[in-house]
Amino acid sequence: AKQEGRNRLSYFTASLQEQAQVRRLLANDLRQAVAKKQLHLHYQPIVDLNTGELLKAEVLVRWLHPSQGWISPADFIHVAEETGVVVEIGNWVFSTAIAQLKAWKQRGLAPIQLSINTSPKQYYEAECDVNQWLTELSEAGLSSADVVMEITEGLLMENSPVVNEKLLAFSKAGVEVALDDFGTGYSSLAYLQKFDIEYLKIDRMFIHNLEQDGDDLIVCKAIVVMAHKLGIHVIAEGIETEHQANLLREAGCDFAQGYWFARPLPHDEFELMLSDSSVC
Ligand code: C2E
Ligand code: CA
Ligand code: CA
Ligand code: CA
Repeated sequence: AKQEGRNRLSYFTASLQEQAQVRRLLANDLRQAVAKKQLHLHYQPIVDLNTGELLKAEVLVRWLHPSQGWISPADFIHVAEETGVVVEIGNWVFSTAIAQLKAWKQRGLAPIQLSINTSPKQYYEAECDVNQWLTELSEAGLSSADVVMEITEGLLMENSPVVNEKLLAFSKAGVEVALDDFGTGYSSLAYLQKFDIEYLKIDRMFIHNLEQDGDDLIVCKAIVVMAHKLGIHVIAEGIETEHQANLLREAGCDFAQGYWFARPLPHDEFELMLSDSSVC
């Protein structure tokens, strides 16, 4: 047992060091990732749960590292946040998504609203200029209705004047805001009335066991009822089975996203899907 304990300890220590090293490596490489055009966007369909219509897509960033291959945002966004690079990445994601949307529009593809993830860190930084985004949007000939900005619960809890000013700018410009990962964070509901929010995205944590766990279904139903009373639409994330989709439809959920409908797709594949939906 002693031997085992020591092995476990040294393994643990090594892996911590390794982790720190990987982090440093990523942090350095990440600084150049935008300039070196290593970031790519994927698009995951969001459908109307009642009609099945493809109306929106979430924009998800991926990093094609020259030696590590594809790196998931789950593995680098927190590093980007710690080093501040997330501001540059966020600006790149916004501009690239806008340019893509403009191109799709010009080619007459079915209209689609792009839902763009933002990190709380972006809103504290002066370089992250919401008015600049709004200018980019109108310069591309797009309207405020063409995008949704995804934010997380923590941001609303901060009660920071700088943050609130930026959120107010969205509201004034008519840009919709979605509250991502709903139910995983602070779960103070006061801010739902205080801020102008159009969508709640139920975290996939509540969807995952929906078929087995009656409590999760109760939570989802309660979220839908509450949101609707507040005039907020509900998007369920991480739907992987038809049964989950049916349960959520019966619960009155408005929109759905998940592998059951489609995985996040590279832009060529997403484009094909868009052209199909414009045929019918
Ligand atoms: P998120 O915003 O909650 O995005 C949804 C994540 O769930 C995506 O992971 C998506 O691929 C995954 N997903 C979608 N449907 C299913 C499903 O049916 N089952 C399962 N198991 N997973 C599903 P992804 O693309 O790896 O992104 C991870 C997180 O990274 C995102 O979580 C978001 O917080 C962050 N992220 C992604 N792109 C950006 C970005 O441009 N900016 C910022 N700040 N964060 C981003
Ligand atoms: Ca999201
Ligand atoms: Ca989410
Ligand atoms: Ca509103």
